[in-house]
Amino acid sequence: MHQFINGTLTTGASGVTQDVINPATGQVTATVTLAGLRDLEAAVAAARAAFPAWSRTTPGERSAILQRFARILEARAKEFAQAESSQTGKPLRLCREFDVPGTIDNVDFFAGAARNLEGKAMAEYSADHTSGIRREAIGVVGSIAPWNYPLQMAAWKILPAIAAGNTIILKPAEITPLTSVMFAEALSEAGLPDGVVNVLVGSGSTVGAALMRHPQVDMVSFTGSTAVGRTVLEAAAVNAKRVHLELGGKAPFVVFDDADVDAAVHGAVAGSLINSGQDCTAATRALVHRSVYQEFVDKLAARFDAIVLGTPENEGADIGSMSSFRHRDHVAGMVDRARGYARIAAGGYAPTEDGLGEGAFYRPTLVVDAAPDSEIVKNEVFGPVLAVLPFDDDDEAINLANDTVYGLAASAWTSNLQRALRATREIKAGCVWINDHIPIISEMPHGGFKQSGFGKDMSTYSFDEYTQVKHVMFELGGVVEKDWHRTIFALR
Ligand code: NAD
Repeated sequence: MHQFINGTLTTGASGVTQDVINPATGQVTATVTLAGLRDLEAAVAAARAAFPAWSRTTPGERSAILQRFARILEARAKEFAQAESSQTGKPLRLCREFDVPGTIDNVDFFAGAARNLEGKAMAEYSADHTSGIRREAIGVVGSIAPWNYPLQMAAWKILPAIAAGNTIILKPAEITPLTSVMFAEALSEAGLPDGVVNVLVGSGSTVGAALMRHPQVDMVSFTGSTAVGRTVLEAAAVNAKRVHLELGGKAPFVVFDDADVDAAVHGAVAGSLINSGQDCTAATRALVHRSVYQEFVDKLAARFDAIVLGTPENEGADIGSMSSFRHRDHVAGMVDRARGYARIAAGGYAPTEDGLGEGAFYRPTLVVDAAPDSEIVKNEVFGPVLAVLPFDDDDEAINLANDTVYGLAASAWTSNLQRALRATREIKAGCVWINDHIPIISEMPHGGFKQSGFGKDMSTYSFDEYTQVKHVMFELGGVVEKDWHRTIFALR
């Protein structure tokens, strides 16, 4: 049973079953009966019914539930790491050291943040009135998440929404549903009232699309591809819902001539290959000053060739498989097309040795000599593939960094303070790192510029998405004829 509706695990009403595959082995991890439209109606009704009472709980009450939830996750960390790895093919080490602790930290953060909703001070901004701000929950939130970090995406979607007093229906990606359902169940165990969090495991084109357009859903939050994000915007027009979109990325990784090249090479390995490159902020375009270009390419190619791929339990593996065979083949297709116009300096194939042929593995791939307007440089690959391009001066570096429809993340590598400041000011992206690439923290916002979407996950900035600000105004004089009435009653 993989639907979590109104506090209860149920089976999907569609009657259609789908296997959850461990992409590292090709083995079936679980079989899910997908949600149908009847489940969607039940989940929306449950979330609507739960909203009045939940939105009136005190911040302290919501915080107490989240604190208990964090401790439950800690106690069940191993089980969550195992489940996450079994549906994504990630190394257990990555789940143990990144996905699960990152999620727990997020829960702890929102347990505190729930008590810190802010607004302007109540005051007499007009001499005759006292004005104040109420920050109110929006209502029922419909959320859709992708398959690359299923557990963390469930956390990013659910936590700020419920901490602010909303109720929610989350639809995880149908190929990686397990930890989202476990997350909701554990919230129930922590004392969350029924109906506040519901999880529907269903297909994107049916249940996902219907959730986005449902007239009883007040807000939608979508993380996924820019193409589907556009359809979400259209669907949300039905009842003019509030929309929050976290979409694709094509992050530049800019290496200036004064950078520590070894640190940049090391950073490029981690920044482009984390989660097998299936990270919307991953480094995908290394833009490198021509004076250090060859050194960077040679060192990086050697590092890519030395990367060890392995199944989740292999503690000696650097990276795991990709999240699905279908996506691996999509990435391989893009690299194969790139052979026609660029040079593959490392990788570029699916390995078959040591049993890796059973899984959706793909070797870390370095692409050089690709033109700035080629497919591999322009389009999102979402895999362990890094293209390297040279530049000659700072203006060209910044222009190349911004030469994309995306704007999610970027990094600049330099020992020069002015260059670092210029990069942070001029690169159009929701996050710019200096001399690092990837770290995220619960206190800081994550979200895109341009076609990477709008709105923020994590941090207290996420409350700007999940709350609405109300101005309340109290007249002070208690008189019939108020001073400002002169503007209306002209003849007096
Ligand atoms: P996707 O857009 O194909 O799917 C994302 C989710 O949308 C899935 O749950 C899917 O079932 C659902 N969906 C599919 N069609 C739908 C429709 N018509 N209506 C409603 N929902 C629908 O993306 P993906 O392939 O799962 O994930 C990879 C993409 O997600 C990449 O583009 C990546 O950059 C992006 N991503 C962005 C962020 C971010 O924070 N900006 C984070 C992770 C992933």
